[in-house]
Amino acid sequence: MKKCCFLSVALLIFQLHVNAQPDSRKVINIPGIPGYLTLKCDLHMHTVFSDGNVWPSVRVAEAWQEGLDVIAISDHIEYHPHADDIPVQFGRAYEIAKPHADDMGLLLIKAAEITRQMPPGHFNCLFLEDVAALDQEDFWASIGAAVDQGAYIFWNHPGWRQKDEIPIWFSEHDSLYDLGWMHGMEIVNGGSYYPLAYQWCIEKGITIIGNSDVHNPTGFEYLTGGEETRSLTLVFAREKNIESVREALLAGRTAVWRGDELYGKPACLKAIFDQSVRVISQPVKLKGKGFSYIQVINESDIVFKLKMGEGLKGFGYAPEIVLYPGRIGTMPLQNLTDGKEGQADISIPYTVTNLFTGPEENLSVTLDMQVNFIPED
Ligand SMILES: [Zn+2]
Ligand SMILES: [Zn+2]
Repeated sequence: MKKCCFLSVALLIFQLHVNAQPDSRKVINIPGIPGYLTLKCDLHMHTVFSDGNVWPSVRVAEAWQEGLDVIAISDHIEYHPHADDIPVQFGRAYEIAKPHADDMGLLLIKAAEITRQMPPGHFNCLFLEDVAALDQEDFWASIGAAVDQGAYIFWNHPGWRQKDEIPIWFSEHDSLYDLGWMHGMEIVNGGSYYPLAYQWCIEKGITIIGNSDVHNPTGFEYLTGGEETRSLTLVFAREKNIESVREALLAGRTAVWRGDELYGKPACLKAIFDQSVRVISQPVKLKGKGFSYIQVINESDIVFKLKMGEGLKGFGYAPEIVLYPGRIGTMPLQNLTDGKEGQADISIPYTVTNLFTGPEENLSVTLDMQVNFIPED
């Protein structure tokens, strides 16, 4: 009986260690578009089944630890430098990672990266059934095999290996776009950001995507124990399931997060800002032409760097403020006009210099508050 008990405990411990599993998960707090979930997604990464240096289930453990909701393991179709030790098995990384992803409540998308010289370059294909079908000599046969499976396709790192990382749009990309086979584009890949790709996405209605494209353990490239978040795509999905992710990607409901910067459509970034930031301790009391400190809370995990906008006359206020994640910032506000009395609603205009609604455009916001003017004694 005792032996049996010992054996079952030993078995349990063994099972617990089959999958590497960190003991805590970061909680990333980013509000989104009302009515939608904000899913933190990394849709491009590699394992030992292509040129990565990580076992597939470790990708799940890392993503869970870092607070992600969705990942796609996208090993190269054409490039297998570990093939002498790990036989080429298309889709095997997904099979290994899937049970652990299911256990941990992480969505895992079956994917692959078609890897060709530029042009046309590299393309990620998501929601595949049969990865091996993409193993074709001809690029068009390969991407056609993905299309036949209803794959979601995006152009990876368009500026990679181009001069100054500035992407070039070749005739092959016209063909892909005209066929409706370029659903998305990475405007961010790891630490790289491609403003011209962002411009193309806006002009052509292509969904913006940002990913880590990580090959090593993520801790080698990001400070994952602390503040830093890997480059990722925020997907605004109706529900947390694979079909909702696909629907949101096709509908273009994404934003991209890289370091301190967010990229996305004005309505989407504004929804994030407006639900993260508000003035507390209202009404703000202003006595005569004196000043008072207003307190501004940022309840999200995104830093907001504000620069004075135009439009509000008769007040003095900070030309620049930084609203740090999970903190309350203060800012002096001064009344510059004589004889004011009673209550008024005011909106202080700012632009958020780290939120990009286009390559050259920053999000415009207002800090709204109620002010109580008290006459001078
Ligand atoms: Zn690539
Ligand atoms: Zn890659």
